Amino acid sequence: MLGSVLPFSEDTADRVSEYCEQRSLGISDALVEHWEYTRTHFPDADKMSSKLQGSWMVFTAKDRKPKRVLEIGCYSGYSALAWYEGTRDTQAEVVTLELSPKMIAASRAAFKKYCVEDRIKLIEGPADQTLKTLTGDFDLIFVDANKDGYAGYVKTILDRKLLSPNGIILCDNVFARGLSVGADCAPWLNDHVRPYWLGCGQVLDEFNTRLIEDPRIDVVILPVFDGVTNIKWKVPAMPT
Ligand code: SAM
Repeated sequence: MLGSVLPFSEDTADRVSEYCEQRSLGISDALVEHWEYTRTHFPDADKMSSKLQGSWMVFTAKDRKPKRVLEIGCYSGYSALAWYEGTRDTQAEVVTLELSPKMIAASRAAFKKYCVEDRIKLIEGPADQTLKTLTGDFDLIFVDANKDGYAGYVKTILDRKLLSPNGIILCDNVFARGLSVGADCAPWLNDHVRPYWLGCGQVLDEFNTRLIEDPRIDVVILPVFDGVTNIKWKVPAMPT
């Protein structure tokens, strides 16, 4: 197969998601419970990562063994709980940034309920400001907040060396439901959310296109979930 993405229909994509979910590392009962709670109590719950993404987060954290995790965009706390679950070995500190008072309250309640306040630190406020108050570096950074902030967040992370030498930045939703690639790429998207994602698609296309020009980093965009960009510090090429 020379291409990188299979041409799934909407229905097949749902079946593939379920197929993968049922055959992947399971997430804890607490994570499943919190995912269901968020889905049924928040009208904008599609902002939350999927259950399969939760499995991927736990797997990735177990694999990379970060000592510190930084997340930009906490929402209801689901992904922070996944980072926590995946770092039981390393007992990593998980720092998560959130702006919305409603979601700050929801996340704090969840962190208390699941007894994870020992390692999860929620910092309140706009991430472009709170990022600048952070010190030290992080081994795993998950960027998942307002899409028009991604370029600035990654620049601040790199300029302030918040990414550890072997660390990784994972930027979520860089496809903007497909609309970063082209305005005609998501005919299935309903008219209620289309204008929002069209705007995201424009800024994320700019972000995706400019990022590769930064000489400090290696970048790969993976067509998984809604597009995940992986960023690492560039290491000198091996001698041939
Ligand atoms: N990471 C969560 C998960 O996986 O379930 C989902 C995060 S949701 C896509 C994005 C979150 O970023 C929202 O809760 C929103 O309030 C927050 N956000 C938006 N703009 C922000 C900003 N400027 N600073 C901090 N958080 C922001």
